[in-house]
Parts: sequence; structure tokens; C-alpha cells
Amino acid sequence: MEAKAALATVLALMAACPLCQSTETRIRWTRLPDRLFRTTEERFDVGSCDACGTRFLSPMPPNERLAAYYPDGYWVGTEVGGEDAASKQRGLLEVYRRFVLRDHVRFVGRVVQGQRAGGKQVRVLDVGCGDGSFLQALGESDCVGMDLSLPALRAAGARGIRGLQATLGDGALLPQSFSLVTAFHFLEHVYPPEPVLASMRNLLRPDGDLVLQVPNVRSWQAWLLGRYWGGLDVPRHLIDYSDRSLIQLLERCGFQVVAVAHHCLRDNPTTLANSLVPGLYPPARIVRGGADHGLAAMLANLGYLAVTLACTPFALLESLFGRGASVMVHARPRS
Ligand SMILES: [Zn+2]
Repeated sequence: MEAKAALATVLALMAACPLCQSTETRIRWTRLPDRLFRTTEERFDVGSCDACGTRFLSPMPPNERLAAYYPDGYWVGTEVGGEDAASKQRGLLEVYRRFVLRDHVRFVGRVVQGQRAGGKQVRVLDVGCGDGSFLQALGESDCVGMDLSLPALRAAGARGIRGLQATLGDGALLPQSFSLVTAFHFLEHVYPPEPVLASMRNLLRPDGDLVLQVPNVRSWQAWLLGRYWGGLDVPRHLIDYSDRSLIQLLERCGFQVVAVAHHCLRDNPTTLANSLVPGLYPPARIVRGGADHGLAAMLANLGYLAVTLACTPFALLESLFGRGASVMVHARPRS
């Protein structure tokens, strides 16, 4: 009887939601592959929590496996491959990136303006900064980009962004030294999230601001596409939040949510496009290695652009109804 009770306890613990600890969880999809970057032949099960709506890899891969799921050039796909092959694509992607970063810049720009209006000194940390294109577009002079990828930080440096190869937990930055911490499409890659949010809170001044963005499993496209939804990005996304579960997590970790946005021209149409034609996603094609050059590459890029444009009206519509494929949240530490 005791053994049975112990087994039941173990099973309950195994099945608990990694976010809210509810045991109202179930395996939603089994044997999902890495559709986008094809880093592994492994298959992964995705669980879901009936209590908070979160989805998650089940079981969570051990930490030492995670690096293998990130191909070289994951953050800066345009740097990978031969210089000649990449140069034209890099130019096109740069134009595209600048255009579609407008939503991030507008959302964060409002936060920065609020800080200036309140007489605060603006100092920005972007966690998981990648190639620094967001910080460059934001245009704040006192900013730091943090990432683990050296090629990404080199690319950020080429944009004039001061980069730091570090993680949040390693004490590389002074507590309370930033007025604003941003992290776009970062939180879904880490587990557990609570220490990460505690570190962010620690780096913020008490009157500072936090801006996070994650894919939203409560979006229409996630609901329609299920296991084929690109926002799951198995196995790199360990936890897939809904807008509601992200807000609950922030409140549990001592933040007060100030503003929420669902519209994002950079991420929402491409998430839908990646669901429908994962083989055409340009960074993944470059990372997978020079299978297409010249005319073939151009046609593939044009094909991807056409699909993305075709996905845009739907992405706009779901955002209008508060069901966008990503959610951006502005929060402040609760005093
Ligand atoms: Zn839950």
C-alpha cells in the first residue's frame, strides 16, 4: 500500500505543470520532431496544463542536452555559410528586420519616454540580444546586450552595441543598475523561469521597467494548427506560455503588469508561415547549410516572403481580438 502511495506521489510530481504546479496536466502531442532547424532525430512529447493553459516539453530535456538543439548561427543565421552566398540574403534580411522591428521599438519607446518624462536616467539591458538589431533600432546610447553566442555578440558589436557574454545568474552585472530590462523570445527557452525573473528584478532599479515577449499559445493560429504550430519550436521552447499564464507568472514573481500587446508584425505572420512552410524559413535554410544558392535561394526567399505576406491579414485579425501569436508585456517591480 505504501509503495502504491509512493508511486502515485512520484507520478503526480512527474505530471505537475512546470509553471503553476497543478496536476491537471496531460500529454497533448507525442513524438514531435524539430521541424524548423532539424538539429536532432529525437522526438519530443508536449504536455499541457488544464489549470493555466501552459504547454511544455514532457519530460524536460536535461540541461546538458539543450545546447545541441541550437545550431551554429541560431541567433545570427545570416552570418553562417559562405560570405558570397550569405551577403545578398543578409542585405535583404536587414531591410526586412528594420521594417518589422517597428512594433518592438514603439512599445519599448513608450516605456523609455515615460522614464525620461519622470526624470529617470535611461539604461537598457536586452537579455538574449542576438545580433543587437533591436537595441540599434531603439537608439538609446546607454545600453548593453547580453547573449551567450559569440558570433551574435560580434554582430551586435558591428552595430555599435556593447555586448556581454554572460547569463543572468552569473553576477556579471551590478544589482539595480538598469532602468529597463527587455527580453524578446527568451523566457520560453529557459526553465525554471522564476530564478530568471528574480535576476531581472535584481538588475532593475526599484522604479525600473521590464518588457518581455513570448509566443502565445492562446492565439488563434496555435489553436488551429495544434502540433504543427511554429510557435512551439520543439525542442528549443521548454515552456510555451499563454498571455494569461505569463501575466500570472509575473505577478507571482513580484511584478505588476502595466500594458499588454498582441500585435507584432515581425513575429506573428512569420510564426504562421513557419508553421505552414518550415522548410522555407530563411535562417533555418542558411543554418542547415548551403543547399540552395543563386536562383534557387532567391526563389525560396520570395516564396517565404509571399507566404508571410499571405499570413499577415490573419495575424493582424487574431491580434485585434487579443489572440495574437505573440504577447508583449510591460511590467514593473511591485514595491
Ligand atoms: Zn499550469
